[in-house]
Amino acid sequence: MIEQFFDVDERLTELAHKAEERCALPFARISDTAEYNETKVLHAFIHNGVSESHFKGSTGYGYDDRGREILDKVFAEAVGAEDALVRHNFVSGTHALGVALFGILRTGDKMVSVTGRPYDTMEEVIGLRGEGNGSLRDFGISYAEVPLKADGTPDLEAIPAAVSGAKVAYIQRSRGYSLRPSLTVEDIGNIVQAIKRGNPDTFILVDNCYGEFAEKQEPLAVGADLIVGSLIKNPGGGIAETGGYIAGRKDLVELCSYRLTTPGMGKEVGCTLNQSRGMFMGLFWAPSVVGNALKTSVFALSLFELLGYEAYPRYDAYRTDIIAALRLNTAEALTAFCQGIQKGSPVDSFVTPEPWDMPGYDSQVIMAAGAFTLGSSIELSADAPLREPYAVWIQGGLSYPSGRAGVLLAAQSMLEKGLLKL
Ligand SMILES: *Cc1c(COP(=O)(O)O)cnc(C)c1O
Repeated sequence: MIEQFFDVDERLTELAHKAEERCALPFARISDTAEYNETKVLHAFIHNGVSESHFKGSTGYGYDDRGREILDKVFAEAVGAEDALVRHNFVSGTHALGVALFGILRTGDKMVSVTGRPYDTMEEVIGLRGEGNGSLRDFGISYAEVPLKADGTPDLEAIPAAVSGAKVAYIQRSRGYSLRPSLTVEDIGNIVQAIKRGNPDTFILVDNCYGEFAEKQEPLAVGADLIVGSLIKNPGGGIAETGGYIAGRKDLVELCSYRLTTPGMGKEVGCTLNQSRGMFMGLFWAPSVVGNALKTSVFALSLFELLGYEAYPRYDAYRTDIIAALRLNTAEALTAFCQGIQKGSPVDSFVTPEPWDMPGYDSQVIMAAGAFTLGSSIELSADAPLREPYAVWIQGGLSYPSGRAGVLLAAQSMLEKGLLKL
């Protein structure tokens, strides 16, 4: 059908059908999870009495903003948290993670990342790169990490000793810009047990980016204390225009709220402007949209495996996040792929992405993001740091048919540059 609208080589469309035929089982699993989570979210809306009046935003200080309070409650219930801080004021996931760490940690405290090196943008927050910028290290908070094992899995044996004396243990659920496997909620449960064996008093914080609603439970269900993420990824459902969240233990969410605003004010202030309706509606849609993104991801993995590339995870793997990584082996292939994704985007399809020096990253990055919301990665997007192992990370897809078309146009773009063997 795609060939009626786009120039796609016939051999590619045939291969796409083959790729899709293999996906019946993973697609069924994805639909089942989406149905479960969508029902859970609907129940949270009804249980908390969401009303049209909650969509009307506030201005100024935002005192007594009922919509803001109810959104926190609905979100908390949807992710199994005691409380949540869901705000458009978080400028990104990194900001929300930074607020959470600065909210909990004090001078002299120690943070231990138990899943190896955290996501690129966290390096400057922690103080692994840069100096005198107000990082955790500048405030006298020390950092240690437990490297992943050679196969990319967490080192459960080393974790108990490493977290002795740590105030915060930090877990990253999704693979980030690495090829290590993403951690399922069950894996996170095993890590939590290892942390508790070493130090039952450590607060466990999970970078939950890209994981929300990919499984039936979130990491709070297996003993994490806080989860943190971005609203222009999964839980914003492609509708929230900006923002992030922190959810989990009530006392810790409160500490974080004092860091986001000020001690004493916390959650009681922060006007919502015109953002409430989009955040509510995005949360409502999120499980279904995550399902579409997962199907897009599985399709891409299946297709590129048939095209002879290493693709992570396998297309039929149990999924805990929406990320797929394709090892395309050369900078030219990465660039052609991202340009093809851009061509298949509903917005800015005529733009040609080029590698650039993105703030917070230490190598050049090429990104395809023809999105309604700038930088949104619940919408079909692809990014690739131009460095070993020359892999592209793709995620998102508001609808499966559009996501599928985008992936095919990426393959077509590589084919047209002579970078694909058929
Ligand atoms: C996206 C992401 C973040 C935060 O990134 P922002 O672009 O600041 O929202 C953090 N950790 C992981 C694993 C991510 O994927």
